[in-house]
Amino acid sequence: DQFGIQESLKRLGLKSENLGTSTGINWIDSGESSISSFSPADGALIGKVQLTNQQAYEEVMTKAQVGFESWRQVPAPQRGEIVREIGNALREKKADLGKLVSYEMGKSYQEGLGEVQEMIDICDFAVGLSRQLYGLTMHSERPGHRMYEQWHPLGIIGIISAFNFPVAVWSWNAALAWVCGDVCVWKPSEKAPLSGIACQLIAGEIFEKHSMPEGICSLIIGDYKVGGLMSHDSRIPLVSATGSTRMGKLVGQAVGSRLGRSLLELGGNNAIIITANADMDMAIRGALFGAVGTAGQRCTSTRRLIIHENVYEEVKSRLASAYSKLVIGNPLDEKNHVGPLIDKDAVNMYLAAIEKVEKEGGKVVVNGGVLTGDGFESGCYVKPAIYEAENHFEIVQHETFAPILYLMKYSSIEEAIAMQNGVPQGLSSAIMTTNMREAEAFLSVAGSDCGIANVNIGTSGAEIGGAFGGEKETGGGRESGSDAWKAYMRRQTNTINYSSTLPLAQGIKFDI
Ligand code: NAD
Repeated sequence: DQFGIQESLKRLGLKSENLGTSTGINWIDSGESSISSFSPADGALIGKVQLTNQQAYEEVMTKAQVGFESWRQVPAPQRGEIVREIGNALREKKADLGKLVSYEMGKSYQEGLGEVQEMIDICDFAVGLSRQLYGLTMHSERPGHRMYEQWHPLGIIGIISAFNFPVAVWSWNAALAWVCGDVCVWKPSEKAPLSGIACQLIAGEIFEKHSMPEGICSLIIGDYKVGGLMSHDSRIPLVSATGSTRMGKLVGQAVGSRLGRSLLELGGNNAIIITANADMDMAIRGALFGAVGTAGQRCTSTRRLIIHENVYEEVKSRLASAYSKLVIGNPLDEKNHVGPLIDKDAVNMYLAAIEKVEKEGGKVVVNGGVLTGDGFESGCYVKPAIYEAENHFEIVQHETFAPILYLMKYSSIEEAIAMQNGVPQGLSSAIMTTNMREAEAFLSVAGSDCGIANVNIGTSGAEIGGAFGGEKETGGGRESGSDAWKAYMRRQTNTINYSSTLPLAQGIKFDI
């Protein structure tokens, strides 16, 4: 145990017990079988997690309904105080939780720490927000009337999260939902369930310390079937689901059919436009981290480079040379740049994508392949690949959750923007330029159609202060900063008549 995994697991409270379903500090034994969590880093079994069944789910939902009735009565700033303490507990556990995230998901330790830092940041953000859940006041058209709006909590928020940000996505939702007065039921990815258990242990303890009832923070474990219980459950007014577009369509339809709300954070197909006026060092750095960081398993990973014809050859050769220096290996070892994919299914999808791009006429720039031998026993390590491709290729139009980068050439900025927008997804986008006209055209109404559009920054690595999410097949949801909190509340418009007559709106006369 060269990286001290067992010690970290112990400090996080992850003993060998089979935990799974929880309503706070309490854990429910569903009597179900377990799923095993294997590390993609070395293939070792990290631990087992018990699945939630219908009966345990019902218990969770009952507790959540009861928990909501008290939690909504706690003044928002006091709810913020509890979230502040959760943030502090995360500060204390940052190294251990970051390590677990890295070991269970396969991202580098640095990125594991970064993910926990995002959780801490969103807690801080939520604390401030707990005193700023502002509504507007309006001027009534009727004399002696006052009109204003207020925001009330929604109720139970269902959170379905993806494997690649196994803990941060929960916190983006839960920290805001809690200060808004909602209670949360979280189903983490079945590919990284122990990270979910670790978070539940941290949050459950804080709610317990404040003598809060069970049901404010709940955890359920399972695959799409357990997720399906949530999307069909009309006791859950908002389902916030992060994952593939395929999943989002199913969840969106199920929630929509009962006219519930869904907040969807789905796949991306992110591009960087590198213009002839780019600062080339920055462009290469941004493209490199965007494409190979997290082994290409970020929703905001750079998938496409749209390069001006005058600098195309330069970008291609500099990238190829940078790729040749990448060190691939155990994500906990800080000398490595690129870790493994999440599992062998992901490796197969990576291989299928390479086959497909070759079949469609793509030309290899940097060869991919699966790594074998010492240190690669898990079978999940692949080489980041680069292909010259065309935007209309079917494979280019799809998100492959792996480090494959497609290069394409353009001649006018309008053409570049059209290519950037010419995919079904609309999450993150970037332009590398020192030219003001190009930058502003990219950000203009006729520019990028994505939820995130950056200048001289790559596509990945958003800060929590902004609203995060994307358009089109990315699902349209926004999480995290700005006024994303509004999704977790219901707006009520109140008109109060303090006059002694009852005038009707729009001056309507109705006298008998
Ligand atoms: P996935 O869609 O396979 O699974 C995501 C979650 O949805 C899991 O918890 C899974 O159990 C659940 N799920 C799957 N089918 C379901 C169904 N029919 N009903 C209810 N729940 C269901 O995704 P993944 O492989 O874990 O994650 C990778 C994907 O997530 C990529 O497409 C990536 O772009 C996307 N992602 C998006 C964002 C974002 O903010 N836009 C962030 C992270 C990841």
